[in-house]
Amino acid sequence: MSERVLTFEQALDEVLAQTRSAAGPRAVESVELLTGAGRVLAAPVVADRDQPGFDRATRDGYAVRAGDVGEALRVVGSVQAGESWSGAALGEGEAIEIMTGAPVPVGADAVVMVEHTVLVEGTLRVEAGRSLRVGENVVPRGAETLAGKVVLPAGRVLGAAEISVAASCGLAKVQVFAQPKVAIVATGDELVELDEPMEAWQIRNSNSYTLAALVEAGGGFRGRLKVARDTRADLFERIAQGSMWDLMLLSGGVSMGKYDLVEEVLREFGAEFFFTGALIQPGKPVVFGRLPKRGSFQHGEDGEYSVPHDGPWNGEWTYFFGLPGNPVSAQVCFALFVAPMLRALAGRSEIAPVFVEARLAEEVKGGARVTRFLPAELSGGWDGVEVRVVGWQGSGDVVANARGNGYVVLPAGVEHFPIGLTVRVLLR
Ligand code: AMP
Ligand code: MG
Repeated sequence: MSERVLTFEQALDEVLAQTRSAAGPRAVESVELLTGAGRVLAAPVVADRDQPGFDRATRDGYAVRAGDVGEALRVVGSVQAGESWSGAALGEGEAIEIMTGAPVPVGADAVVMVEHTVLVEGTLRVEAGRSLRVGENVVPRGAETLAGKVVLPAGRVLGAAEISVAASCGLAKVQVFAQPKVAIVATGDELVELDEPMEAWQIRNSNSYTLAALVEAGGGFRGRLKVARDTRADLFERIAQGSMWDLMLLSGGVSMGKYDLVEEVLREFGAEFFFTGALIQPGKPVVFGRLPKRGSFQHGEDGEYSVPHDGPWNGEWTYFFGLPGNPVSAQVCFALFVAPMLRALAGRSEIAPVFVEARLAEEVKGGARVTRFLPAELSGGWDGVEVRVVGWQGSGDVVANARGNGYVVLPAGVEHFPIGLTVRVLLR
Protein backbone atom coordinates (compact mmCIF):
# COMPACT_ATOMS: atom_id res chain seq x y z
CA MET A 1 0.00 0.00 0.00
CA SER A 2 1.63 3.25 -1.07
CA GLU A 3 1.93 5.81 1.68
CA ARG A 4 2.04 9.56 1.16
CA VAL A 5 3.03 11.35 4.34
CA LEU A 6 3.37 15.14 3.96
CA THR A 7 4.64 17.97 6.10
CA PHE A 8 1.97 20.15 7.63
CA GLU A 9 2.47 22.86 5.00
CA GLN A 10 2.32 20.38 2.13
CA ALA A 11 -0.78 18.73 3.54
CA LEU A 12 -2.56 22.06 3.93
CA ASP A 13 -1.54 23.06 0.38
CA GLU A 14 -2.93 19.78 -0.88
CA VAL A 15 -6.27 20.41 0.84
CA LEU A 16 -6.40 23.97 -0.49
CA ALA A 17 -5.55 22.74 -4.00
CA GLN A 18 -8.39 20.22 -3.81
CA THR A 19 -10.83 22.87 -2.58
CA ARG A 20 -10.48 24.48 -6.01
CA SER A 21 -11.69 21.39 -7.86
CA ALA A 22 -14.39 20.90 -5.22
CA ALA A 23 -15.77 24.39 -5.86
CA GLY A 24 -18.02 23.36 -8.75
CA PRO A 25 -21.60 24.48 -9.38
CA ARG A 26 -23.89 23.82 -6.47
CA ALA A 27 -27.59 24.04 -5.74
CA VAL A 28 -29.03 27.38 -4.67
CA GLU A 29 -31.94 28.03 -2.32
CA SER A 30 -33.91 31.19 -1.71
CA VAL A 31 -34.53 31.70 2.04
CA GLU A 32 -35.89 34.38 4.37
CA LEU A 33 -33.18 36.80 5.39
CA LEU A 34 -32.91 35.58 8.98
CA THR A 35 -33.11 31.93 7.99
CA GLY A 36 -30.04 32.69 5.91
CA ALA A 37 -27.96 33.56 9.00
CA GLY A 38 -24.76 31.53 8.88
CA ARG A 39 -25.37 30.44 5.29
CA VAL A 40 -23.27 31.39 2.27
CA LEU A 41 -24.49 33.93 -0.29
CA ALA A 42 -24.97 32.34 -3.71
CA ALA A 43 -25.58 35.64 -5.47
CA PRO A 44 -24.13 39.06 -4.84
CA VAL A 45 -26.22 41.62 -3.00
CA VAL A 46 -26.67 44.75 -5.09
CA ALA A 47 -27.62 48.16 -3.69
CA ASP A 48 -31.18 49.00 -4.70
CA ARG A 49 -30.55 52.73 -4.14
CA ASP A 50 -27.80 55.15 -3.25
CA GLN A 51 -26.67 54.91 0.37
CA PRO A 52 -27.25 57.25 1.97
CA GLY A 53 -30.14 58.22 -0.24
CA PHE A 54 -29.66 61.89 0.66
CA ASP A 55 -26.98 64.14 2.15
CA ARG A 56 -27.18 62.90 5.74
CA ALA A 57 -26.31 64.87 8.87
CA THR A 58 -24.12 62.85 11.23
CA ARG A 59 -24.51 65.20 14.21
CA ASP A 60 -27.20 67.13 16.01
CA GLY A 61 -26.56 70.80 15.27
CA TYR A 62 -27.17 73.37 12.57
CA ALA A 63 -26.99 73.12 8.81
CA VAL A 64 -25.08 76.16 7.57
CA ARG A 65 -22.73 77.37 4.87
CA ALA A 66 -19.24 76.59 6.09
CA GLY A 67 -18.06 80.02 5.01
CA ASP A 68 -20.56 81.72 7.34
CA VAL A 69 -18.96 80.39 10.50
CA GLY A 70 -17.76 83.72 11.83
CA GLU A 71 -21.14 85.45 11.34
CA ALA A 72 -24.21 85.91 13.48
CA LEU A 73 -26.67 83.45 11.95
CA ARG A 74 -30.45 83.54 11.80
CA VAL A 75 -32.16 80.22 12.63
CA VAL A 76 -34.93 79.81 10.06
CA GLY A 77 -36.30 76.41 10.91
CA SER A 78 -35.68 72.84 11.98
CA VAL A 79 -35.46 69.44 10.28
CA GLN A 80 -35.38 66.03 11.94
CA ALA A 81 -34.65 62.49 10.82
CA GLY A 82 -37.44 61.09 8.70
CA GLU A 83 -38.47 64.46 7.21
CA SER A 84 -37.20 66.60 4.43
CA TRP A 85 -36.76 70.38 4.61
CA SER A 86 -39.66 71.90 2.72
CA GLY A 87 -38.68 75.57 3.04
CA ALA A 88 -36.59 77.62 0.69
CA ALA A 89 -32.94 76.82 0.04
CA LEU A 90 -30.69 77.96 2.88
CA GLY A 91 -29.37 81.43 2.16
CA GLU A 92 -26.37 83.42 3.32
CA GLY A 93 -26.35 84.13 7.05
CA GLU A 94 -28.97 81.45 7.75
CA ALA A 95 -28.95 78.28 9.82
CA ILE A 96 -31.42 75.41 10.05
CA GLU A 97 -31.52 73.31 13.17
CA ILE A 98 -30.86 69.67 12.19
CA MET A 99 -30.87 66.28 13.93
CA THR A 100 -28.60 63.31 13.32
CA GLY A 101 -29.85 61.30 10.35
CA ALA A 102 -31.84 64.16 8.80
CA PRO A 103 -31.29 65.32 5.21
CA VAL A 104 -29.18 68.44 4.91
CA PRO A 105 -31.29 71.20 3.29
CA VAL A 106 -30.36 72.51 -0.12
CA GLY A 107 -28.03 75.49 0.17
CA ALA A 108 -26.24 74.21 3.30
CA ASP A 109 -22.82 72.56 2.87
CA ALA A 110 -21.92 71.56 6.45
CA VAL A 111 -23.35 70.85 9.88
CA VAL A 112 -21.95 72.51 12.96
CA MET A 113 -22.33 70.48 16.17
CA VAL A 114 -24.79 71.95 18.65
CA GLU A 115 -22.07 71.70 21.34
CA HIS A 116 -20.01 74.20 19.38
CA THR A 117 -22.70 76.88 19.14
CA VAL A 118 -24.40 79.47 21.31
CA LEU A 119 -27.96 80.52 20.63
CA VAL A 120 -29.10 83.85 22.07
CA GLU A 121 -32.57 85.14 21.22
CA GLY A 122 -32.73 83.44 17.83
CA THR A 123 -29.20 84.42 16.88
CA LEU A 124 -26.73 81.63 16.50
CA ARG A 125 -22.99 81.97 16.89
CA VAL A 126 -20.34 79.35 16.42
CA GLU A 127 -17.83 79.34 19.29
CA ALA A 128 -14.89 81.63 18.64
CA GLY A 129 -11.89 79.83 17.15
CA ARG A 130 -13.98 77.00 15.65
CA SER A 131 -13.61 76.42 11.96
CA LEU A 132 -15.88 74.35 9.75
CA ARG A 133 -14.94 72.51 6.59
CA VAL A 134 -17.28 72.20 3.64
CA GLY A 135 -18.89 68.78 4.06
CA GLU A 136 -18.12 68.51 7.77
CA ASN A 137 -20.59 66.25 9.64
CA VAL A 138 -22.35 65.37 6.39
CA VAL A 139 -22.24 62.06 4.50
CA PRO A 140 -23.10 62.95 0.90
CA ARG A 141 -25.70 60.98 -1.01
CA GLY A 142 -24.18 57.79 -2.48
CA ALA A 143 -20.92 58.05 -0.51
CA GLU A 144 -21.38 54.57 1.04
CA THR A 145 -22.60 52.97 -2.17
CA LEU A 146 -24.29 53.89 -5.41
CA ALA A 147 -27.44 52.14 -6.64
CA GLY A 148 -26.55 49.06 -8.71
CA LYS A 149 -23.18 48.43 -7.05
CA VAL A 150 -22.30 45.08 -5.45
CA VAL A 151 -22.25 45.55 -1.70
CA LEU A 152 -21.73 41.87 -0.78
CA PRO A 153 -20.08 39.37 -3.13
CA ALA A 154 -21.29 35.80 -3.50
CA GLY A 155 -19.32 33.44 -1.26
CA ARG A 156 -19.68 35.53 1.88
CA VAL A 157 -21.17 34.06 5.04
CA LEU A 158 -24.25 35.92 6.22
CA GLY A 159 -23.27 37.15 9.64
CA ALA A 160 -24.85 40.08 11.44
CA ALA A 161 -22.83 42.67 9.48
CA GLU A 162 -23.86 41.11 6.16
CA ILE A 163 -27.50 40.82 7.27
CA SER A 164 -27.33 44.52 8.10
CA VAL A 165 -26.26 45.29 4.53
CA ALA A 166 -28.86 42.97 2.98
CA ALA A 167 -31.61 44.51 5.13
CA SER A 168 -30.49 48.02 4.20
CA CYS A 169 -30.99 46.99 0.56
CA GLY A 170 -34.50 45.76 1.29
CA LEU A 171 -33.77 42.07 0.76
CA ALA A 172 -36.45 40.03 2.54
CA LYS A 173 -35.07 36.88 0.92
CA VAL A 174 -31.54 35.89 0.02
CA GLN A 175 -30.05 33.35 -2.34
CA VAL A 176 -27.81 30.93 -0.49
CA PHE A 177 -25.97 27.76 -1.44
CA ALA A 178 -27.41 24.42 -0.40
CA GLN A 179 -25.43 23.10 2.56
CA PRO A 180 -22.90 20.39 1.81
CA LYS A 181 -23.96 16.99 3.15
CA VAL A 182 -21.47 15.54 5.56
CA ALA A 183 -21.61 11.92 6.76
CA ILE A 184 -19.95 11.14 10.07
CA VAL A 185 -18.75 7.58 10.57
CA ALA A 186 -17.13 6.63 13.86
CA THR A 187 -15.28 3.33 13.75
CA GLY A 188 -14.14 1.13 16.61
CA ASP A 189 -15.02 -2.04 18.51
CA GLU A 190 -14.55 -0.18 21.79
CA LEU A 191 -17.24 2.43 21.15
CA VAL A 192 -20.55 2.65 22.96
CA GLU A 193 -23.36 5.10 22.38
CA LEU A 194 -24.37 7.61 25.05
CA ASP A 195 -27.43 5.74 26.23
CA GLU A 196 -25.80 2.31 26.35
CA PRO A 197 -24.46 0.62 29.50
CA MET A 198 -20.68 0.32 29.35
CA GLU A 199 -17.71 -1.50 30.80
CA ALA A 200 -14.75 0.33 32.31
CA TRP A 201 -12.58 -0.41 29.29
CA GLN A 202 -15.02 0.84 26.71
CA ILE A 203 -15.09 4.34 25.22
CA ARG A 204 -18.04 6.60 24.62
CA ASN A 205 -18.46 7.65 21.02
CA SER A 206 -17.81 11.33 21.67
CA ASN A 207 -16.18 11.96 18.28
CA SER A 208 -19.35 11.58 16.37
CA TYR A 209 -20.94 14.35 18.47
CA THR A 210 -17.87 16.57 18.28
CA LEU A 211 -17.67 16.23 14.54
CA ALA A 212 -21.40 16.85 14.16
CA ALA A 213 -21.07 20.07 16.15
CA LEU A 214 -18.06 21.17 14.11
CA VAL A 215 -19.83 20.42 10.82
CA GLU A 216 -22.88 22.43 11.86
CA ALA A 217 -20.76 25.34 12.99
CA GLY A 218 -18.92 25.14 9.67
CA GLY A 219 -22.09 25.43 7.62
CA GLY A 220 -22.65 21.77 6.74
CA PHE A 221 -25.66 19.49 7.03
CA ARG A 222 -24.52 16.56 9.11
CA GLY A 223 -25.62 12.99 9.43
CA ARG A 224 -24.28 10.67 12.11
CA LEU A 225 -24.22 7.20 10.64
CA LYS A 226 -24.22 4.08 12.78
CA VAL A 227 -20.86 3.17 14.32
CA ALA A 228 -18.80 0.83 12.15
CA ARG A 229 -17.14 -2.01 14.03
CA ASP A 230 -13.57 -2.86 13.08
CA THR A 231 -14.59 -5.43 10.52
CA ARG A 232 -14.25 -5.27 6.79
CA ALA A 233 -17.95 -6.00 6.30
CA ASP A 234 -19.14 -3.27 8.67
CA LEU A 235 -16.76 -0.69 7.26
CA PHE A 236 -17.74 -1.64 3.73
CA GLU A 237 -21.39 -1.10 4.47
CA ARG A 238 -20.85 2.23 6.21
CA ILE A 239 -18.48 3.62 3.59
CA ALA A 240 -20.97 2.61 0.92
CA GLN A 241 -23.55 4.75 2.72
CA GLY A 242 -21.11 7.60 3.31
CA SER A 243 -20.19 7.75 -0.35
CA MET A 244 -23.57 9.20 -1.19
CA TRP A 245 -22.69 12.35 0.74
CA ASP A 246 -20.50 15.27 -0.36
CA LEU A 247 -18.00 14.71 2.41
CA MET A 248 -17.40 11.72 4.66
CA LEU A 249 -15.63 12.06 7.98
CA LEU A 250 -14.38 8.78 9.39
CA SER A 251 -12.93 8.65 12.86
CA GLY A 252 -10.56 5.94 14.01
CA GLY A 253 -9.10 2.99 12.20
CA VAL A 254 -6.43 4.90 10.26
CA SER A 255 -3.39 4.09 12.41
CA MET A 256 -1.04 1.13 11.93
CA GLY A 257 -2.89 -1.28 14.21
CA LYS A 258 -4.11 -4.73 13.26
CA TYR A 259 -7.74 -3.51 13.28
CA ASP A 260 -7.13 -0.27 11.40
CA LEU A 261 -8.84 -1.22 8.16
CA VAL A 262 -10.34 2.05 7.01
CA GLU A 263 -7.80 2.84 4.26
CA GLU A 264 -7.97 -0.68 2.90
CA VAL A 265 -11.73 -0.59 2.60
CA LEU A 266 -11.68 2.92 1.11
CA ARG A 267 -9.39 1.57 -1.62
CA GLU A 268 -11.98 -1.05 -2.47
CA PHE A 269 -14.29 1.84 -3.39
CA GLY A 270 -11.76 3.25 -5.84
CA ALA A 271 -10.53 5.92 -3.46
CA GLU A 272 -7.81 8.32 -4.58
CA PHE A 273 -5.58 9.40 -1.67
CA PHE A 274 -4.09 12.89 -1.59
CA PHE A 275 -2.23 12.05 1.58
CA THR A 276 -2.16 9.17 4.04
CA GLY A 277 -0.47 10.98 6.90
CA ALA A 278 0.92 14.35 7.95
CA LEU A 279 3.96 15.22 10.03
CA ILE A 280 1.87 16.78 12.78
CA GLN A 281 1.21 15.94 16.36
CA PRO A 282 -1.43 15.14 17.32
CA GLY A 283 -3.05 13.92 14.12
CA LYS A 284 -0.26 12.13 12.25
CA PRO A 285 -2.38 9.28 10.79
CA VAL A 286 -4.85 11.68 9.08
CA VAL A 287 -5.94 10.59 5.62
CA PHE A 288 -7.45 12.71 2.87
CA GLY A 289 -8.88 11.66 -0.46
CA ARG A 290 -11.93 11.25 -2.61
CA LEU A 291 -13.94 8.44 -4.10
CA PRO A 292 -16.59 8.31 -6.80
CA LYS A 293 -19.91 9.46 -5.37
CA ARG A 294 -22.38 6.59 -5.45
CA GLY A 295 -25.65 8.33 -4.78
CA SER A 296 -27.37 11.58 -4.00
CA PHE A 297 -29.92 13.20 -1.75
CA GLN A 298 -33.62 13.44 -2.35
CA HIS A 299 -36.38 15.23 -0.53
CA GLY A 300 -38.93 12.94 1.03
CA GLU A 301 -41.80 13.37 3.45
CA ASP A 302 -39.51 12.73 6.43
CA GLY A 303 -36.84 15.11 5.19
CA GLU A 304 -33.88 14.25 3.06
CA TYR A 305 -32.46 10.82 2.47
CA SER A 306 -29.70 9.36 0.35
CA VAL A 307 -30.32 6.98 -2.53
CA PRO A 308 -27.74 5.08 -4.57
CA HIS A 309 -27.39 5.97 -8.24
CA ASP A 310 -28.12 3.28 -10.70
CA GLY A 311 -26.23 3.37 -13.95
CA PRO A 312 -22.71 4.60 -14.56
CA TRP A 313 -20.81 7.01 -12.33
CA ASN A 314 -21.82 10.61 -13.05
CA GLY A 315 -18.37 12.10 -12.41
CA GLU A 316 -19.11 13.49 -8.92
CA TRP A 317 -16.82 12.88 -5.97
CA THR A 318 -17.26 12.27 -2.28
CA TYR A 319 -14.32 13.76 -0.43
CA PHE A 320 -13.27 11.98 2.72
CA PHE A 321 -11.05 12.43 5.71
CA GLY A 322 -9.94 9.52 7.83
CA LEU A 323 -9.38 11.20 11.18
CA PRO A 324 -7.45 9.61 14.02
CA GLY A 325 -9.71 8.22 16.72
CA ASN A 326 -8.16 10.15 19.55
CA PRO A 327 -10.58 13.01 20.12
CA VAL A 328 -8.05 15.84 20.33
CA SER A 329 -6.27 14.57 17.21
CA ALA A 330 -9.58 14.48 15.40
CA GLN A 331 -10.36 18.06 16.45
CA VAL A 332 -6.94 19.37 15.43
CA CYS A 333 -7.23 17.68 12.04
CA PHE A 334 -10.70 19.11 11.65
CA ALA A 335 -9.52 22.65 12.32
CA LEU A 336 -6.50 22.31 10.03
CA PHE A 337 -7.82 20.33 7.09
CA VAL A 338 -11.52 19.51 7.25
CA ALA A 339 -12.73 23.04 7.97
CA PRO A 340 -11.17 24.50 4.77
CA MET A 341 -12.70 21.73 2.65
CA LEU A 342 -16.07 22.21 4.33
CA ARG A 343 -15.92 25.95 3.65
CA ALA A 344 -15.12 25.27 0.00
CA LEU A 345 -17.98 22.78 -0.34
CA ALA A 346 -20.28 25.32 1.30
CA GLY A 347 -19.34 27.83 -1.41
CA ARG A 348 -17.33 30.19 0.75
CA SER A 349 -14.63 32.27 -0.84
CA GLU A 350 -12.50 32.57 2.33
CA ILE A 351 -11.21 29.07 2.91
CA ALA A 352 -7.75 28.88 4.49
CA PRO A 353 -7.40 28.56 8.27
CA VAL A 354 -6.52 31.82 10.01
CA PHE A 355 -3.63 31.86 12.47
CA VAL A 356 -3.09 34.69 14.93
CA GLU A 357 0.14 35.65 16.65
CA ALA A 358 0.62 35.75 20.39
CA ARG A 359 3.44 35.79 22.92
CA LEU A 360 4.16 32.67 24.92
CA ALA A 361 3.24 33.30 28.56
CA GLU A 362 5.32 30.30 29.65
CA GLU A 363 8.26 28.51 28.10
CA VAL A 364 7.60 25.29 26.23
CA LYS A 365 10.00 22.42 25.63
CA GLY A 366 10.57 21.68 21.96
CA GLY A 367 12.59 19.06 20.16
CA ALA A 368 9.76 17.38 18.26
CA ARG A 369 10.41 16.32 14.69
CA VAL A 370 6.87 17.19 13.62
CA THR A 371 4.79 20.37 13.84
CA ARG A 372 2.85 20.30 17.07
CA PHE A 373 -0.59 21.79 17.70
CA LEU A 374 -1.09 21.86 21.45
CA PRO A 375 -4.32 22.82 23.20
CA ALA A 376 -3.72 26.32 24.48
CA GLU A 377 -5.46 29.24 26.04
CA LEU A 378 -5.24 32.54 24.27
CA SER A 379 -5.99 35.58 26.37
CA GLY A 380 -5.29 39.25 26.27
CA GLY A 381 -6.46 42.78 26.13
CA TRP A 382 -4.99 46.15 25.26
CA ASP A 383 -1.46 45.16 26.22
CA GLY A 384 -1.28 42.35 23.71
CA VAL A 385 -2.27 38.76 23.36
CA GLU A 386 -0.57 35.91 25.15
CA VAL A 387 -0.96 32.18 24.98
CA ARG A 388 -0.29 29.40 27.41
CA VAL A 389 -0.24 25.68 26.73
CA VAL A 390 -2.84 23.72 28.70
CA GLY A 391 -1.41 20.82 30.69
CA TRP A 392 -2.78 17.61 29.23
CA GLN A 393 -2.54 13.84 29.24
CA GLY A 394 -2.16 13.52 25.49
CA SER A 395 -4.49 13.41 22.55
CA GLY A 396 -7.25 11.54 24.35
CA ASP A 397 -7.60 14.29 26.95
CA VAL A 398 -10.84 16.01 25.97
CA VAL A 399 -11.11 17.67 29.38
CA ALA A 400 -7.81 19.52 29.02
CA ASN A 401 -8.66 20.35 25.42
CA ALA A 402 -11.85 22.04 26.54
CA ARG A 403 -9.88 24.24 28.93
CA GLY A 404 -8.16 25.82 25.92
CA ASN A 405 -9.65 27.94 23.17
CA GLY A 406 -7.22 27.12 20.37
CA TYR A 407 -4.02 25.33 19.42
CA VAL A 408 -0.57 26.82 19.65
CA VAL A 409 1.66 25.93 16.70
CA LEU A 410 5.13 24.67 17.64
CA PRO A 411 7.27 24.22 14.52
CA ALA A 412 9.32 21.04 14.05
CA GLY A 413 12.99 20.94 14.96
CA VAL A 414 13.05 23.78 17.48
CA GLU A 415 14.67 22.76 20.79
CA HIS A 416 13.18 25.39 23.07
CA PHE A 417 10.37 27.96 22.93
CA PRO A 418 11.26 30.69 25.44
CA ILE A 419 8.78 32.80 27.36
CA GLY A 420 7.81 35.92 25.37
CA LEU A 421 8.42 34.27 21.98
CA THR A 422 5.88 35.18 19.31
CA VAL A 423 4.11 32.05 18.16
CA ARG A 424 1.14 31.25 15.94
CA VAL A 425 -2.18 30.14 17.34
CA LEU A 426 -5.09 28.52 15.52
CA LEU A 427 -8.35 29.62 17.12
CA ARG A 428 -11.27 27.31 17.27
P1 AMP B 1 -7.88 4.57 16.62
O1 AMP B 1 -7.45 5.77 15.82
O2 AMP B 1 -8.99 3.81 15.98
O3 AMP B 1 -6.70 3.69 16.94
O4 AMP B 1 -8.41 5.12 18.00
C1 AMP B 1 -7.54 5.66 18.93
C2 AMP B 1 -8.26 5.90 20.22
O5 AMP B 1 -9.17 6.94 20.06
C3 AMP B 1 -9.09 4.74 20.71
O6 AMP B 1 -8.37 3.87 21.47
C4 AMP B 1 -10.14 5.42 21.55
O7 AMP B 1 -9.64 5.63 22.83
C5 AMP B 1 -10.29 6.76 20.88
N1 AMP B 1 -11.48 6.84 20.03
C6 AMP B 1 -11.64 6.20 18.86
N2 AMP B 1 -12.85 6.49 18.33
C7 AMP B 1 -13.45 7.32 19.21
C8 AMP B 1 -14.71 7.98 19.24
N3 AMP B 1 -15.61 7.84 18.23
N4 AMP B 1 -15.00 8.78 20.27
C9 AMP B 1 -14.10 8.94 21.27
N5 AMP B 1 -12.90 8.35 21.30
C10 AMP B 1 -12.57 7.54 20.29
MG1 MG C 1 -9.94 2.08 16.32
